[in-house]
Amino acid sequence: MAEGEAFRPGSRLIAALDVPDRASADALLARLGDSVDWIKIGLELFIAAGPALVRAYAAEGRRVMLDLKLCDIPATCARATERAAELGAELLTVHASGGPAMLQAACDAARASAARTGMPRLRVLAVTVLTALDQQDLRVVGVDRAVDDVVAARATLAVSAGCDGVVASAREAASLRAQVPPGFLLVTPGVRPVGSDAGDQKRVMTPRAARAAGADLIVCGRPIRDAPDAAAAARAIAAELR
Ligand code: C5P
Repeated sequence: MAEGEAFRPGSRLIAALDVPDRASADALLARLGDSVDWIKIGLELFIAAGPALVRAYAAEGRRVMLDLKLCDIPATCARATERAAELGAELLTVHASGGPAMLQAACDAARASAARTGMPRLRVLAVTVLTALDQQDLRVVGVDRAVDDVVAARATLAVSAGCDGVVASAREAASLRAQVPPGFLLVTPGVRPVGSDAGDQKRVMTPRAARAAGADLIVCGRPIRDAPDAAAAARAIAAELR
């Protein structure tokens, strides 16, 4: 994707490969077949299988969200982003709580890397407030503001730093949509089909409601991974996103 070209979401479902190793990831992908074209590699699988796996899946033509939630000093975050950009993933997460200089450093690094390598530019997404946190959790970690206000403030920060989008819960998607510029990506985890277990997620919505609220891409893990028929579960979720 050339710089300036609009981001093409394609299918709106991202299946989280939250599994312990490459063999399990390959097995989950085999179960999924062609039901998803976006996959998410997060901390568990990245720590187990590393950059080689990201490279391999991207080289197979899979669309990869690299969910590393980087949060460090600007120089370190920039250098880590440059390395991530060389792997062929399309999306990378960083924490908005890392602050404006860190977010900007990550975005600048992604742009510089694309210019240097000629590879499609890695899109940087700022994680606002984890979907596993609620008001009470925020208070405990010393943030004494409403969840919605913190998400909105961090989204404003992400826009000014040059990020391509944010990760937030679908509960905030409608107000974010009204706040952010056109084309700014809203990616929402914490999505549960009717009747499925929320697990540790606290700010949850159904796929249909998330899409109706304005989410561009929906991340879903356990309801797909743990389903007896993962492809059928993914197709049912994707059908709610049209
Ligand atoms: O299994 P479940 O659908 O809850 O998985 C959600 C996935 O999205 C997990 O891989 C989790 O790490 C990720 N995620 C999240 N909340 C964020 C960012 C990423 O749940 N704010």
